[in-house]
Amino acid sequence: MSSEVTVREVRVVATQPEGTPLVTVMVVTSEPGLYGVGCATFTQRWKAVVAALESHLAPLAVGRSVNRIEDFWQVAMHNGYWRNGPIQNNAISGLDQALWDIKGKMAGMSVADLLGGPCREAARVYVHASGDTPEAVLEATLDLEDQGYRYIRVQQGGYGGKGHALHQPAGAAGGAYYDPREYCRETLVMLAHVRGAMGDRVELLHDIHERLQPVHAVEFARRVDEFGLFFLEDALAPEDIEWFDQLRAHSTTPVAMGELFNHPLEWTPLIERRQVDYLRMHVSQIGGITPARQVVLQALPYNIKTAWHGPGDTSPVGHAANLQLDLWAPNFGIQEWCRFSDAAREVFPGTPEVRNGYLYPNDGPGLGIDIDEQAAARWPCETRVIDWTQTRWPDGTPVRP
Ligand code: MG
Repeated sequence: MSSEVTVREVRVVATQPEGTPLVTVMVVTSEPGLYGVGCATFTQRWKAVVAALESHLAPLAVGRSVNRIEDFWQVAMHNGYWRNGPIQNNAISGLDQALWDIKGKMAGMSVADLLGGPCREAARVYVHASGDTPEAVLEATLDLEDQGYRYIRVQQGGYGGKGHALHQPAGAAGGAYYDPREYCRETLVMLAHVRGAMGDRVELLHDIHERLQPVHAVEFARRVDEFGLFFLEDALAPEDIEWFDQLRAHSTTPVAMGELFNHPLEWTPLIERRQVDYLRMHVSQIGGITPARQVVLQALPYNIKTAWHGPGDTSPVGHAANLQLDLWAPNFGIQEWCRFSDAAREVFPGTPEVRNGYLYPNDGPGLGIDIDEQAAARWPCETRVIDWTQTRWPDGTPVRP
């Protein structure tokens, strides 16, 4: 194939086989039968991403060479003059990942091969165990251990703090209430219960989800040291990262952060000051494989590892992109995995598979994954007001989710 292959059409495929809106992109080229797929999922604002793609970025992409990924990424990021942000970054990611997929298909190589070749055969993953009581969390952990998982994130009551009757004022507004102090107390009890029963057979992880006041996050990090967590996630909100110095001074538990970041200047200080051990940006949220590759190389000399965000609101296409980065990155740490259903696998043929706690790629070139547009059409996306992010403290104060 010559280097004159160009973008002929961009098709946006929005689908929700698991009830969570996913936005994916198919970039169709001038070469018959050659196309690429990418993830552009910002589930809470999915229609805005579809509009950004269809109205603005697809017309920008059509007619351009598929070969010039870096050039296109720079043009797309600056074409609207105002830069970054979750809607634009995700829309660009859809195109960026599809162009990497196309380049791999043209070369007959995986994206990991294009990046420099794999450092490992498969990516170790962590999965989520949750329950409303310490006993239920332990039961879920044992079940996952039986399935071959060795890295397990343990949470009680979702992100916690909802176990007891909340002390609310009369007339309190509706919302997703939680009590941060209760969350701390019940989580320490749960961690002691699970670690006590499991011993060192599995690695445990936990996500604070930025729900604590900074000084309480520091206290919590100090108190979980005894449980030997693999990492503690989002102990601090992006707005509170100046507190990492105190957290580091009081705790030796490894720290992971990054899913809310948009721009390199948000993670650069954490790298340069060695304040985190794992960077876990949401790859489509930062703009795709092109900027994620730069994160890997930026973190490498600081011995900071990757743990890309891998929830159910990253499409299987996005997970396939995560996996290609995981296979290549010399400083890969671990991959979050959400255990897709058969419905999702039908819509996205080639979705990577876990065997005995490791996520394996298939033999396909590029990202090794496809989109079945007819299957996707059976699961049309719905728009609805998001409830779980309408979080409040017991006195009614609206807070970060
Ligand atoms: Mg998280």
